[in-house]
Amino acid sequence: MTDILAEYADLSPMRHSVALSDYTTLRIGGVAELFFEPAKPEHLVSLLSRLQKDGVPWRMLGAGANVLIPDAGIKGAVIHTGGMRRAFREDECLRVWPGVTLPQLLNITRELGLAGIENLAGVPGHVGGALALNAGSSDWGIWDVVREATLWDPQDDTLQAYQPTEIQPQYRDGNLSGRVVIEALLALEVSTPAAVKTLFEDVVRRKNATQPVTMSSAGCAFRNPRGDSAGRLIDASGLKGSRIGGAVISERHANFIVNDGGASSADVLALIDLMQETVLEKQGIELHREIIVW
Ligand SMILES: Cc1cc2nc3c(=O)[nH]c(=O)nc-3n(C[C@H](O)[C@H](O)[C@H](O)COP(=O)(O)OP(=O)(O)OC[C@H]3O[C@@H](n4cnc5c(N)ncnc54)[C@H](O)[C@@H]3O)c2cc1C
Repeated sequence: MTDILAEYADLSPMRHSVALSDYTTLRIGGVAELFFEPAKPEHLVSLLSRLQKDGVPWRMLGAGANVLIPDAGIKGAVIHTGGMRRAFREDECLRVWPGVTLPQLLNITRELGLAGIENLAGVPGHVGGALALNAGSSDWGIWDVVREATLWDPQDDTLQAYQPTEIQPQYRDGNLSGRVVIEALLALEVSTPAAVKTLFEDVVRRKNATQPVTMSSAGCAFRNPRGDSAGRLIDASGLKGSRIGGAVISERHANFIVNDGGASSADVLALIDLMQETVLEKQGIELHREIIVW
């Protein structure tokens, strides 16, 4: 194993036994056996290819804003996209690496006066994670502005550029089928910095008024059922403020589970079960998780 590890380290900066709680917005998660932070998309591809060939289990991690990681940690490799933060303008398009954060992306588009991604204002995440989950609002997702995304496929170790019609992303699901986002070309609309700033501020104002933005959370725990809101159903089931250990259902927005200090992954899972069971019993509706449980 030692020699192999040295070769991995040549492909990307690598650390052992890294606490993943430092890399998730819920501040929950045990230790990753191996933790990589490649600096360039081509290094990411070489690393993935090598890990796959060697049979080392691996997972991609962006800003950790939508994952629940077990307290027992992760065997194998976690690849954090945070080292790959570059964006390049191509006319009204932006070519972005997978570790560009959504706040960085918003700043860039504001400065350049490029509109189209205002629904991502106030959303934490990296571009790769956002494409994996088709992050956005109730009726819009980031794939709506993707012209082309380069994905690596672990099945056959190939790199291919896809258009959205070939991927068919769904609500809060990029439909990547295990493929990894290596780069994306976003097609935006030419506007002005002032107009883009106003659009962002409107979205942020609405979120600040309704979401527990200052608390540690992983965003919405459940997807909205068609024509309804998971938050409304959880609230109507009398669950706001319910607590298991350090995990609490936010008083501000019932679809947010917040870490009130010292919550474990097990606390959050138990609260998720309670919410699903109670909403099914009282409202007759089955809630489906938006948080990804590793
Ligand atoms: C306060 C708060 C508000 C939020 N509001 C919203 C909102 O309004 N709308 C919304 O959609 N979401 C929202 N979220 C959830 C979250 O911000 C988004 O889902 C975001 O896209 C997650 O990106 P990430 O980089 O953190 O992904 P992570 O949580 O790190 O990973 C999520 C999944 O993507 C996979 N992944 C990561 N990188 C890649 C890659 N390069 N290629 C392939 N797969 C990859 C991971 O393996 C994992 O399965 C919110 C979260 C918080 C904490």
